[in-house]
Amino acid sequence: MVAPVKILDVREHSLAISRYADPTIPSGGLTTSIVAVTTDVARDGRPVVGYGFSSFGRFAQGGLIRERFAPRILSAPAADLLNDDQSNLDPLRVWATMMTDEKPGGHGERCVAVGTLDMAVWDAAAKIAGLPLYRFVADRLGRTVPDRPQVAVYAGGGYPYPTDDIAQLRDEISRFLDQGYTHAKMKIGGSLKQDLKRIEAAMALLPSAGHLAVDAMNRYDHARCLEAVAALAPLGLWWLEDICDPLDFETLAEAAHHGPAIAAGEPLFSLAESKLLNRYGGLHPDRDILLFDPVHCYGLTHYLDIVSTLEATGWPRTAFWPHGGHLFTLHVACALGLGGSEINPVSFQPFGGLGDGALIHDGVAGLPDSPGVGLETRAVLFDLLRQHLH
Ligand code: MG
Repeated sequence: MVAPVKILDVREHSLAISRYADPTIPSGGLTTSIVAVTTDVARDGRPVVGYGFSSFGRFAQGGLIRERFAPRILSAPAADLLNDDQSNLDPLRVWATMMTDEKPGGHGERCVAVGTLDMAVWDAAAKIAGLPLYRFVADRLGRTVPDRPQVAVYAGGGYPYPTDDIAQLRDEISRFLDQGYTHAKMKIGGSLKQDLKRIEAAMALLPSAGHLAVDAMNRYDHARCLEAVAALAPLGLWWLEDICDPLDFETLAEAAHHGPAIAAGEPLFSLAESKLLNRYGGLHPDRDILLFDPVHCYGLTHYLDIVSTLEATGWPRTAFWPHGGHLFTLHVACALGLGGSEINPVSFQPFGGLGDGALIHDGVAGLPDSPGVGLETRAVLFDLLRQHLH
């Protein structure tokens, strides 16, 4: 009988991240949490450590991780954390343990704290199994993936620059194309006049308007939303994203009724909210896009429930393009057979993007072979994780 796997330590740290390649450009004080889950399992003479981070856009969650969720993991009996033969962590059981005594509703940003730890637990479990995360997840779900899987990707970015905005936007889109991306997403939500100029500049570089998505970051009220959708609809863009408050389903439904493809769900963090979006958001499963972030919505464990629940109501998996833009979402898109994954080649470094040296060809990316998520394949990121978590 093999000794049961043990979690020896859970560590966390908060780091500043930037929307821009140049981190001196103000970026709203954004932060993310990094976590390490250290086990007593050795691989290649070193302890297996699972790493996670809080994706982007919702700030670090150190307090909740330190005070509530990590202690529950560390004080739990083995049976609450491990698979039946106790040879590996069971991420679903660890998740249920973390959520002990949490009441339904009131998601706040606890979902981000849980999702950050959940990523590290999946990473550790896949490493203990000796498998890349996508294969570990697919095996667990009884799904098959090809020997050399590929995932459709697009480059996210295009935040407004405080100086030389259009010239710098052009440079950024050109870099995406040079790197092998065929599709890009840029931010809008400022003045419609300026947004149209920026969109025109980006469209001129891409093969067609259908290769460009635009993201209003939930800034529009009802009137501005409908005005923007009316102005943008004739352009034939790939999709319009986050076009009103995430819970303003009335405005969303009105826009979706007339509009081109609409992308929504990024700032909704639970199965309950995803059901409301589905019931009241007026979205079209044959046309619109679902962006739930597998880290922000309580982690992959809860994201699995969101995907399967909405799939049962008629949404194809190809409609899911998870927000995030990093290696973890790439694995998730591959394992679950989703439409594809956002990738952030420029923003949110050193977390955004693929492994060092990974190539994108014609808008398609391969997956790393290394066990787990493969954050170790990003040298600068791995140095940062080791520096702050060991
Ligand atoms: Mg967005």
